[in-house]
Amino acid sequence: MNKLRRPVIAGNWKMYKTRDEALQFIYAVNQEVPSRDLVESVVCANDVFLRDLVKRQGENIKIGAQNMHYAENGAFTGETSPLMLETTGVEYVIIGHSERRAMFNETDETVNLKAHAAIKHELTPIICVGESLEIREAGTTDQVVKNQVVKAYLNIDRNQALKTIIAYEPIWAIGTGKTATPEQAEETIKNIRGVMKDLYGADIANQVRILYGGSVNTKNVDSLLAQENIDGALVGGASLDAASYLTLVNAA
Ligand code: PGA
Repeated sequence: MNKLRRPVIAGNWKMYKTRDEALQFIYAVNQEVPSRDLVESVVCANDVFLRDLVKRQGENIKIGAQNMHYAENGAFTGETSPLMLETTGVEYVIIGHSERRAMFNETDETVNLKAHAAIKHELTPIICVGESLEIREAGTTDQVVKNQVVKAYLNIDRNQALKTIIAYEPIWAIGTGKTATPEQAEETIKNIRGVMKDLYGADIANQVRILYGGSVNTKNVDSLLAQENIDGALVGGASLDAASYLTLVNAA
């Protein structure tokens, strides 16, 4: 981490937790999470009860969504629009998670459209990028991730870029218990910051938060956050338990 950038710990609950379980979690952590001046604590939950969570969120924890459509409305059965998310009061939305890319036809193009829509509706997009194991083994991670970042930021200007967060999540590390080593994560994230520098200049690149995600837990979080360019974590499994989540935010 670098003191210039406020760390972010974002939980991605995926399709876990009922409404009651989600509310219990929020009650349990509300008073315990550190001040927002120190760390941005976020949990990204299911659309169905986002509004309930926002109503009960404390000052230091914020709620996010896990996906949204890019269109404001239309014949898109089962989808949630940015306008609809806005009415829930959430402040963040995950975009382009690898599970959505793999299973729900998310592409670099839709990621870009969604990033524009999020910024327009004053939602902070957490834009996910990351390579498969085949790509890592072929040694082309940097090119592939660069391409994802460049496409995600198409026609996004400097001021808008500042309002985004990037999450580098190697697909082979998600939900597998196989974390990237701190050095591997740092190397790729440093490369992503370099891409942002090429796109927007050093000033913006030094301010944009870039998170690591993929089997982050209470044991490995410290060594990951100790890296200069890693500004926090996007956490699946280890964000489901309140005590574990609190350990992660306190590490940041
Ligand atoms: P994991 O998930 O922490 O369970 O590996 C991370 C993610 O999918 O964002």
